[in-house]
Amino acid sequence: MSGYDYDLFVIGAGSGGVRAARMAAGYGARVAVAEAYRIGGTCVIRGCIPKKLFVYASRVGEDINDAEGFGWSLGETHFDWPALVANKDREIDRLSDLYSKNLKTSGVAIIEDHATFKDSHTISLRRQARTVTADKIVIATGARPFMPEVPGIEHAITSDEAFHLERLPEHVTIVGGGYIAVEFAGIFNGLGVKTTLAYRGEEILRGFDDDLRIGLRQAMLAKGVDVRVESRVTCIEANSNGYSVSLADGAGLRTGLVIYATGRHPNIAGLGLQAVGVESGDNGRVAVDDYMKTSLDNIYAVGDVTDRINLTPVAIREGAAVAETLFNDNPTRLDYAIIPTAVFSQPEIGAVGLSEAEARKRYDRVDIYKSVFRPLKYALSERDERTLIKLVVDGRNGIVLGCHILGDAAGELIQLLGVALQMGATKADFDAAIAVHPTTAEELVTMRRKHAP
Ligand code: NDP
Repeated sequence: MSGYDYDLFVIGAGSGGVRAARMAAGYGARVAVAEAYRIGGTCVIRGCIPKKLFVYASRVGEDINDAEGFGWSLGETHFDWPALVANKDREIDRLSDLYSKNLKTSGVAIIEDHATFKDSHTISLRRQARTVTADKIVIATGARPFMPEVPGIEHAITSDEAFHLERLPEHVTIVGGGYIAVEFAGIFNGLGVKTTLAYRGEEILRGFDDDLRIGLRQAMLAKGVDVRVESRVTCIEANSNGYSVSLADGAGLRTGLVIYATGRHPNIAGLGLQAVGVESGDNGRVAVDDYMKTSLDNIYAVGDVTDRINLTPVAIREGAAVAETLFNDNPTRLDYAIIPTAVFSQPEIGAVGLSEAEARKRYDRVDIYKSVFRPLKYALSERDERTLIKLVVDGRNGIVLGCHILGDAAGELIQLLGVALQMGATKADFDAAIAVHPTTAEELVTMRRKHAP
């Protein structure tokens, strides 16, 4: 036991911080966590969870349309946005309370305050106007939305505010082409809002496999989203009916709401990192080594504030690794090579491992297996939607390097493919597995023909 108030002080009660705190307490450490906003962090309060609830809500319209093909007639339907927001808020409150309870039952002290470094072992608490000391400190303050400098940017909101809109606009313009932009475009479009997505690059979702990127854009267009690539916003002006958005190609949009989803930057404001000597990198990211240690020996950082792979499950693993390293005598570093991920776009994306383009850069011989098909679920409906499944294989030894899915339940499927890739599965292993029929996933084990380059 250290001579400090706490053995571990965690700044930020989001996914990574909560995991570090609870595990450290489980190993007998005296732990406190400070949170300036709400327990649960971005994922629970204004990220993954409320977003997924909105995604579910926005898919219902298509399900209602499909119902007729299955013999159902549902009559007139009505969607109530304030009801969805209120129900979502109730669930978020429940989850936030659950997080608090779990911290308390693990023996972690919760301090609802803004924390700033006074020195490397002392933290000032702004509202309580007192200091506490700790042997080890973990920075887990996440990230906050970034908005570029564009004339009129003050008229735009971010996804943070989109969760609390009082009413839906008739038309929304979403700027960006990453996770949040495509997910919110699907949500608004599904809820009946005319939706434009303006992305500066050639193709949305940079970094994902090209077949998924192209396939998703085409599917979004088919569902009515006005996806504009190579489209830069030069100015936003307010007018009596909403906003006018000017684009670099001379086009203009009249819209009721502008949402910027142009990335998130590490949330380090007011932490006092410079004064204490914690080194930071681009965009203020806290620089850490393989064990999540900062430039100071007793200070660690996990999750989005380190701006490496900004995904909740990664932050959770990093929090756990720090607790193992510091309080269980088990130095732990993460293997970031194979990280399954889902984009809850419509249709959904699941991806793990290398894209075809990335694999071709790294390997001499790459084999591609690809299947594009209309899922059975839509056979009786008017939906002309295709599912895409693609395997990227090392041509020398058959090891599956990447798996990419665009279609229903892609997020669910990719979780298990993550297990297969983690185990080093080969194409022959996939082929040896017996298919489950009739499913979408059976395509994964029945693709026999290599796709011609
Ligand atoms: P992303 O980094 O995914 O995407 C940012 C987008 O904004 C990119 O398309 C980028 O374009 C564009 N952009 C960046 N700067 C500018 C600029 N100055 N002007 C115009 N466009 C710009 O960030 P998001 O905001 O979508 O999401 C934030 C983080 O949250 C992500 O890192 C993601 O990991 C995480 N997240 C994960 C989800 C999930 O797991 N399902 C869901 C939502 C978020 P370009 O490609 O050209 O750089």
